Amino acid sequence: MLSYLARSLIFVAFSFSLLCQAREIAFTFDDAPTPDSALMTGAERTQKIIHALQRAKVPDTLFFVKADYINPHTAERLRQYSDAGFHLASHSFSHQSASQIGTEAYALDMYKAHLALKSFNNVLNFHRFPYLHYGKDLTDINQLQNLLQELGYKDGYVTIDNFDWYISALLTNAAGEKKVINYEKARDFYIKSLYESIEFYDALARKSLKRSPRHVLLLHENDAAALFVGDLVEYLRNKGWKIISPQQAYKDPIAKNFPQVAFHKQGRVAAIANSKGFPESALRHPSENENYINQAFTAAGIVETK
Ligand SMILES: [Zn+2]
Repeated sequence: MLSYLARSLIFVAFSFSLLCQAREIAFTFDDAPTPDSALMTGAERTQKIIHALQRAKVPDTLFFVKADYINPHTAERLRQYSDAGFHLASHSFSHQSASQIGTEAYALDMYKAHLALKSFNNVLNFHRFPYLHYGKDLTDINQLQNLLQELGYKDGYVTIDNFDWYISALLTNAAGEKKVINYEKARDFYIKSLYESIEFYDALARKSLKRSPRHVLLLHENDAAALFVGDLVEYLRNKGWKIISPQQAYKDPIAKNFPQVAFHKQGRVAAIANSKGFPESALRHPSENENYINQAFTAAGIVETK
């Protein structure tokens, strides 16, 4: 028989290990290879992202390719990602909403992307729906899931939705208008905004799943990522998060739990919560809104107004 003291010590050690267990998150980038912008060329963007990820020793990431962006120049960028050890996956050919164009048109578009990606290395069989639109209703959603499986694809779901694309667009637009950007403030704004979304969806997971799953963060292959993704990694690690590969993240049991609801556009955790009765209004962080970000972005004084 263990003494009372020994049992207490085991209990304390067990609780401590649970507390210390790092929450885990993988990084994914949609819409690669994005075109040149007022802030940088696409080639520069790719170099900056690779450099930042390597410097931060991020184990792996997935770049979800919008296949109609592929041309001889941009194909080189995709090769640079795979040569650096990162992976590619499908984000459809022409980035249309599966909920709007219907299952047949979407399946054809998906197959076109499948063919376009064939000649690249390091392609993983994950597919991510543009806008996280999985289909107009549950019948269409399940039909597309079956088609994905027939083509050998797994669902490249996200667990953390956010508006990184909108923050990046505000910065790029400011650069296009030749305004002066305070990059330190921009970096802090990007990190704070993403971190709030990460904590929001993790809290939702702990409420609905009763645990923190291996998360999949949705980012885009955009200017903001090129500028700040290394800082975001560092910030997350300082907060106790562990950066894992998407392959590891997609081994979480939620990968096999496809919720039978029509609500998928805020990611897998939100869909699971919805299937357990959480109302849609509780499944979206306030920052997933253009007006909200416009106000916060102006208040943060990121773009100098004279
Ligand atoms: Zn996209």
